[in-house]
Formats: sequence, C-alpha cells, structure tokens
Amino acid sequence: MSPEPVDVAVIGAGQAGLSAAYHLRRRGFVPHGTGTEGEPTFVVLDAETGPGGAWQHRWPTLRMGTVNGIHELPGYPVPPADPQAPSREVLPEYFADYESRYELAVRRPVRVRAVRREGDDPHGRLIVDTDAADGTHAWAARYVINATGTWRKPFWPTYPGQATFAGRQLHVHDYRSAEEFRGRRVVIVGAGVSAIQLLDEISQVTRTFWVSRAEPPWDATAFDTAARVQAIAGVEERVRQGLPPGSVVSVTGAHWSPWAQAAQDRGALVWHPMFTGIEAAGVRMPDGTVEPADVILWATGFRADIAHLAPLGLRTPAGGVRVRDTRAVDEPRLFLIGYGPSQSTVGANRAGRDAVRAIVRERAAATA
Ligand code: FAD
Repeated sequence: MSPEPVDVAVIGAGQAGLSAAYHLRRRGFVPHGTGTEGEPTFVVLDAETGPGGAWQHRWPTLRMGTVNGIHELPGYPVPPADPQAPSREVLPEYFADYESRYELAVRRPVRVRAVRREGDDPHGRLIVDTDAADGTHAWAARYVINATGTWRKPFWPTYPGQATFAGRQLHVHDYRSAEEFRGRRVVIVGAGVSAIQLLDEISQVTRTFWVSRAEPPWDATAFDTAARVQAIAGVEERVRQGLPPGSVVSVTGAHWSPWAQAAQDRGALVWHPMFTGIEAAGVRMPDGTVEPADVILWATGFRADIAHLAPLGLRTPAGGVRVRDTRAVDEPRLFLIGYGPSQSTVGANRAGRDAVRAIVRERAAATA
C-alpha cells in the first residue's frame, strides 16, 4: 500500500506534540480524513495506549504538589488538583480532555519505526513508517514534527566495577516507592530535581547516601528567571552546534520548596562528591573509603528518543542533531520539539507554536 499523503505528521502526543497539534488546528489544519478537499491536513501518531505522554509512567509518589511546576497546555488550564494527587493520574486525564476538546484525533497506539526521504528531491515528502494496525502503515508528509520526548531512554553512566555490584541497581525510570528499600542502604546518584525528591522520600524509611559530580546550585525561589534563561541559552547553543543537548531542568538547579527545606532540616540532603568506582558491597569514594550499599539508584536523566530518525543521517560526530529554532539544520522538513532547550512543559509549548509558525510562513511564501 502506498504511503498516505498528509501535510504535517506529528510524532508523539506529550506536551510538545499536543501543543503543535493545537497550533496546527488554530492555523486551519484539520486532522487527516476530516474536513474538505484542499484544507491542509495533519496527523498525530502516538505510541502509548492512552493520553498523557510520559506522565502516565511517572512513579506513583510524584504528586501534583511535588512536581517542579507544570505549565498548562496552550489555551486550556490544568484544573485545580489536590496537591496529594499523583501526577500520573491527574495529567493524563487533563491531556485526554484536551485532545477531545480540540479534536486532535490522536492515533494510538502507533509507533513510528522510521522517518526516511523519498528519493533525492529536497522538496519531496518524508516517509513516516509505522507499526499501525489500522491499515495506514506509512505516511508521506511535507513536514514532520518530532515530539517523542525522552522517557524511553533512561541514561546510565558507566563506572569501573559496575558489573560486580552484588546489590540492586535501578534507574528512576523504574522507581515505584520508597517502601521497597526499607532496611537497605541506598546510594542515590544525581543532582537534578528527581534525585532530590527521591532522596527526600527514601531517607524517610531508610539510610541514604547522596552523590553527584557537582552539588546542584540551590535557589531561594522556584524560578530564578535569570538562571533559567541562561541555562536554556546554553542548551540552545549546544543543539545549534549538533552537540548532545543536556537537560534544561537539571541545569536550572534546585530550589528551597517546603519539602526540600524539611528534608534539609532532617539532615537528609548531605551531598558527597561522585564515587570513583563500584565494588561488590558498596561504592569507592575519592578518598579511598568504601561506602556500603545495597542499592544504587541512578537519577541521571534521560536522552532524546530519536532512533527512528536514523535513516535521515542527521547525527553529528558529536552525537547530537543540529537544530536551530526547532528546525533540523540538515533536514529543513523536520522539526524537533521537546528537544534540547524545549525539554520542559513551558519550552514544549513554545516549541510547538514556533514549529507551526515556521511551517505556515513557508507555505504562505510558496503560494504567494
Ligand atoms: P513526552 O511526554 O515523553 O511525550 C512523548 C510522546 O511521544 C509519548 O507519548 C511517547 O509514547 C511518544 N513516542 C515516543 N517515541 C515514539 C515513536 N517512535 N512513535 C510514536 N510515538 C512515540 N517539566 C516541567 O516543566 N515541570 C515538571 O514538573 C517536570 N517534571 C518532570 C519530572 C520527571 C520525572 C521528568 C522525567 C521530567 C519532568 N519534566 C518536567 C520535564 C517534562 O516532563 C517534559 O519536558 C515534558 O513533559 C515532555 O513532554 P514531551 O511531549 O516532550 O514528551
């Protein structure tokens, strides 16, 4: 079967993908298979079985009161929520409402296997190959907006002796609750908000030991605007050069929220420099001592989930993709949003809007 033509294919229906779909709707695009002849079309393909993007997989104890500040999707506020309610329940419901309110017609579960060029014509279409069971296995899109997030790509650094560790190692991706560590000695690795939140939780039931390469900078308030702008600009420059992006949320540091202050007052936030190696019974510290450990919890972030873009050959020797203002420098029909500087809820919103603006502007110029 030949690929189904569509003007814009959006891959992923998390915050970034839904923002793009919302702006496409506002600019007169209609979901593929609806509308009338001649109207520009889009399709949103999402690998999940239900709405919510990565929020549906976050650990159950990540509550609305402990997330780092969720920016609503464009045009529709997050309804007031109990601070104790799990974000993995509240936000997927909100996303579901949003999709039906704006009639975004997300197709799921549909995983994109590959995005490739059709021939050598730089003005031709990009082919989006999927595993869809509904008959449309491939799309031929004028533009692709990639919004596939990072959740399926947890990042584990490697350290000497890691394979010899006799205890359990896990990444925050697989964390469920502090209770499973009761009575065990837990080393928590990382300097981002997740590391600090889990340190707070786990230290309430058992002994913890916190390490990272550098101590996170602490701000007095939730949003130190100057630091945030600087962090985003730094990541923006990295992706322009084709370097791997790094995390915006982790560079912006931590702030003294009431729970963090309480953890500090309990003496739970004692920072130590990164260990130099791992042994069967613990971790080797820079001063040569061994800190005993039964569990190592890696809160070391995530990487962009973009393996399906490999056929486009965009990866630089440095391991990133060159992106300027959401657009792939080496493939102008492709936009990457929720990538690099837009890896936050507010960044994802803006990136969705900016990608759609660029597409609309280019289409208008082509027909002028
Ligand atoms: P996602 O929500 O991950 O959505 C991507 C979607 O794409 C998913 O539905 C996925 O299934 C789909 N997909 C992936 N690959 C494919 C494929 N090949 N084919 C089809 N579909 C595919 N940011 C904040 O601003 N505030 C916070 O409090 C906050 N807390 C966070 C807590 C944690 C633990 C983490 C890890 C991140 C947090 N962030 C926070 C960052 C924030 O979650 C993200 O920036 C934003 O929600 C990500 O949205 P997204 O659309 O880019 O990705």
